[in-house]
Amino acid sequence: MAHSSSTTDHEPGEAMASPRARLLEAHQRLCETFGCPIAYFHAHGPLDELVSSLLSHRTRNADSARAFRNLRERFPDWAAVRDAPVEAVQDALQPCTWPEAKAPALQRILQLITGRRGALDLDHLAGMPVPEARAWLESLPGVGPKTSAAVLSFSALRLRALPVDSHHHRVAQRLGIIPETMAVGPSHAVMEAMLPPEWDAQKVYDHHEVLMLHGQRVCHFRAPACARCVLLDICPTGRARSRAAPQPAARGHALEGGAGPLG
Ligand code: SF4
Repeated sequence: MAHSSSTTDHEPGEAMASPRARLLEAHQRLCETFGCPIAYFHAHGPLDELVSSLLSHRTRNADSARAFRNLRERFPDWAAVRDAPVEAVQDALQPCTWPEAKAPALQRILQLITGRRGALDLDHLAGMPVPEARAWLESLPGVGPKTSAAVLSFSALRLRALPVDSHHHRVAQRLGIIPETMAVGPSHAVMEAMLPPEWDAQKVYDHHEVLMLHGQRVCHFRAPACARCVLLDICPTGRARSRAAPQPAARGHALEGGAGPLG
C-alpha cells in the first residue's frame, strides 16, 4: 500500500531530525496502512479491564483471556473472587504465567479497592481528570503506567491515555522516537508528551494500536522486515541495517494479515 506522506522525499536527518516529527510521520503512514480509526476491541467496564490487564502481564493474549473467562464462569462477581480461597482463584488463573503470584495479588487489589471506595467498582474514574485517574490506579500495588493507561483507554471509559506495550516500545526505540536505553515505564510520559494536544481519545488509541500492529507484523523482535517497511526512509535502525546488508527498496506494506482483534 503506497503512502501519501509529504515528507517521504526528505533526506533523513533533515525533516525527520526530531523524534516528534518521526512519531507524527509514523502515525500518519501507519494509519494509512492499518486504516484508522481502529475499532476498539471490547467495551469492558474499568474494573473488568483492570483485572484483564493484570492477568495479561507476561502472558499471551489468548491465555490471559482464558484465565479471565475462567474467573467470570467460576465466580458470580468480583466480590466472590475477592473473598474466595486463594487456591480457587489460583486454579482459575492456571492459563496465566505465575498464577500463584497473580491470585493473591488480584485479591489484594480487590480488597484495597473495596476499602478505598466502599464498593467494588471503578466508576468514579469516569469523572476524574486523566492524570488523577492514572495516579489513583497507580497507587494500587503492581499497577504501573501501562496498566493505568490500558484501563482508561481500552475500557468503556474511552479516556485519552497512551498505553505502551512491548511492540509499541520496540518500534519507538528503533525509530529513534525514544532512546534505546529508555525502559517501557518512563517511555509512557515521554511519548504521550509528544502527541498533539488536540488529539482525542480515539486518535491516541489509534496511535498505540498502529505502532503495536506494526511491531507485531513488520518490525519483529528478532528479524524486522525493513525491506517492506513503509517507515524505512525515516528509520535510523532500518537505514543502518540496509547499509550493513543492502536490501531491495520497499515497494509497499505487505501485511501478514488484516487488523483483526487486538490484544
Ligand atoms: S525500518 Fe526496520 S527497524 Fe525501522 S521500523 Fe521498519 S521494520 Fe522496524
